[in-house]
Amino acid sequence: MTTPSPFNGRYARQIAVREIGPDGQRRLAAASVLIVGCGALGGAQAELLARMGIGRLRLVDRDVVEPSNLPRQLLYDERDAAEGTPKALAAANRLRAINSQLVLDPRPGNAAADTLEGLLEGMDLVLDGTDNAETRYLLNDACVKHGKPWVHGGVAGTVGIVLPVMPGSGPCLRCLFPTPPPAAEVRTGATDGVLNTVVVQVASQQVTFACKILLGQPVAGSLLHVDAWAQTSRLARLRLVPDCPCCQRRDFTFLESAPLFPDGTPDGPHLHQP
Ligand SMILES: [Zn+2]
Repeated sequence: MTTPSPFNGRYARQIAVREIGPDGQRRLAAASVLIVGCGALGGAQAELLARMGIGRLRLVDRDVVEPSNLPRQLLYDERDAAEGTPKALAAANRLRAINSQLVLDPRPGNAAADTLEGLLEGMDLVLDGTDNAETRYLLNDACVKHGKPWVHGGVAGTVGIVLPVMPGSGPCLRCLFPTPPPAAEVRTGATDGVLNTVVVQVASQQVTFACKILLGQPVAGSLLHVDAWAQTSRLARLRLVPDCPCCQRRDFTFLESAPLFPDGTPDGPHLHQP
């Protein structure tokens, strides 16, 4: 006997995936996800989640669409760029056309030390769609403080990394990198450019980790490194650091003291995608 589907066949092939099933689909439909940064990574994450049947997306970005975004920011088109539409709003318009059942909560503006905790309210999970260390350390602090899982992702050139963080059961970003690296040493889209295929690969892995977390599967302690051009991927096992200042000592320096970062960011992190 088959279980009656509440989804009218739309998700039949997703429900047929053994790892999802009807219960998994119901969990996805009941879940709320915050995407911080709606550029290349965030846009791809949002579209995958919208098509997957996630219940609710909160979209945060303070930038507008520009022509130089179009090679890798899949949600936007030339009209958005010509009109300079705020990314959070342009993303919501596109996602609404993809899935009218999805509850959308676009928030044009900053994810900064004074706004991030409010943005987390009611969310089950956070996806990193930013491209800068400042926001990621803020996200790590806020998510560990409030016990929210988040999935870090980063891309530069043809390579990317993905790190799911499960507060309370696995290492956090500061277990791996206790302090932000000097800006001059960081490879980013600004220094190395970005191949759009590695963006989609990393976003896809972030959403897969998100799915597993929302379905209650174990993911803690994995760091994935991919190179789209060399066609390689490596999964490293990590352990939490017993004296980690964030997840063990609960010193939320980045969130609570809102320090200036080495590049002198005065008013919170900038979410611009390269
Ligand atoms: Zn930690």
